[in-house]
Parts: sequence; C-alpha cells; structure tokens
Amino acid sequence: MSRTSFPDMPTAARGDMQEKGKVFLVGAGPGDPDLLTVKALRLIRDADVVVYDRLISQAVLDLIPPGVSRISAGKAAGHHSMPQDEINELLASLAQRRRKIVRLKGGDPFIFGRGSEEALHLHRHGIEFEVVPGITAAAACSAYAGVPLTHRGASRGVRLVTGHFRNDEPIDLDWQALADPDATLVVYMGRSNLKRICARLVKAGMDPATPAMAVQEGTTPWQRRVFGDLLTLPGRVRSMRLASPLLIIIGRTVALAGELDWYHPAGGEAHDALDHSARA
Ligand code: SAH
Repeated sequence: MSRTSFPDMPTAARGDMQEKGKVFLVGAGPGDPDLLTVKALRLIRDADVVVYDRLISQAVLDLIPPGVSRISAGKAAGHHSMPQDEINELLASLAQRRRKIVRLKGGDPFIFGRGSEEALHLHRHGIEFEVVPGITAAAACSAYAGVPLTHRGASRGVRLVTGHFRNDEPIDLDWQALADPDATLVVYMGRSNLKRICARLVKAGMDPATPAMAVQEGTTPWQRRVFGDLLTLPGRVRSMRLASPLLIIIGRTVALAGELDWYHPAGGEAHDALDHSARA
C-alpha cells in the first residue's frame, strides 16, 4: 500500500510521548571534529546513548563523554554490519527506555544517509525525533580540496548523485542531464563504479578532458587527493590505491584547486597523493 501523506500518530502513542525518549538524528560532518555544529556537540555531550555509523571519525567519537554509552551500527558497502531495519528497531527500542538518543551519522543525515528512513520508522512508532543537519561530504571535501562547487563562469549548479548500485544493477542515472559542462557533479560512493561512470558521461557528450578529482578521507589529516580528467581519473584512483570513503568531483571548477589549495594538515602531507600533472 502506498501512501503519499502520513496520518497523525495514534492518540495512545501521543499520550505516551512525554514519557518516551527522543531520538536526535545528528549529522556529524565529514570527519574534522571542528566541522560539527554547536547543536551537534551540545547533544553529544548531553546524550544518554550514542548510536554511530562507521563513517564517524575517531576524533568525533572522542567528543562523546566517557559516561555515555555508545553503540556501533557501522556499515561498509557490501557488508552491512547491522541491517537498516535492525538499526530502526534499535532506535525505537532505545526510545522506549526514556533516553536521549543521539543517532550520529556521517555528513548530513538526509543526504545519502538514510536518516529519512530512520525518521519515518520513528514517526510511525510514535517516537519523537529531531533532525540536526550536518556538513555533507560534497560541501566539506570540496572546500578542503580547494574546489568550489560553483564559480562564476565555470559552474552554475551542483548535482549530488550516488554511484553505488548493486553489482547486477545497471547504473540508473540520467546521463544526459548529468553530462552538463556548466554544472559540477559530485558522486558519493562512486569508487567501484568510477570507470563506468566516467565512460557513460563521455558517451552522453561530456568532454573527456573535463577535470575530475577524487578525495579520500576528506577534511581529515589523512586526506588524499587525486586529479585527472574523465579519461584518466579511474586509472589514477586505482593505481594510487585510493580507498573509501571516496568522493568524486567532476567539472571545470576542479581546475581551480591548484590556486585554492589551502589545506595542509600537520603530519598529513606524507600521505597526499596529489598529482599536479593533470592541471598543468
Ligand atoms: N550522509 C553522508 C554521506 C553518506 S554516503 C554525507 O552527507 O556526507 C557515504 C559516502 O559519502 C562515501 O562513500 C563517500 O562518497 C562520501 N563521504 C563521506 N565522508 C567523506 C569523506 N570524509 N571523504 C570523502 N568522501 C566522504
């Protein structure tokens, strides 16, 4: 049965609400703990329990006070350590025990974070929730990589897409719309399909020389960047052995990274896979 709107929760559940816990779906940003919002930090410090994802950096986990219990719901592409419906159930059952539950998610909860699935589950079970936005990988990794997402004369828009599809599924994206030379394309979870994604963009008419880059562990001291274009990037990502989490940015503004390169984390440069050749 499909529904386009969701009815109010049952009266009984509403009556209980004061008694129950509340779940805060909190965006933790991309890794650098300084990119947490003030609200996120306040909630983490005040939580009874924190349920966190694999993407949450150690530096952010270190901000959880010692007395607060933590539950890992870590997920890696291909091997979900806790299936989504179990996470949903966990949050709902924690809320029955009248606690302040912080559900800490990488980046922003509503951008490829399944925060909305969790929120719907809570709503349908009469459990109060709040959504606390976080800095999404596209905004944060591009900034720390020296690549503006928009720039007058180079990009008038941004598109965020997922490049993750199950092995047997074709990559179901609107390639004609994405092959727009006047917009920046940001691909989340695109590592394993990078070659296919670049090839499809070229086939849809995008210039093969369009600048493109990959950022691994953006905003952390271990950030690595690899530059290229639609033809060269997949091979470079492979040969430099870039790993997850990896964000792909495609578009003319990538060429500005040479001049806008400002992030030089102490102790991180030895790991940088910066390749200037593509921007010469
Ligand atoms: N909700 C998150 C995205 C979760 S999907 C957000 O708003 O950012 C997970 C994907 O996000 C990763 O596969 C990667 O593509 C991207 N990502 C998240 N953090 C990242 C980081 N620090 N560096 C590079 N990519 C990152």
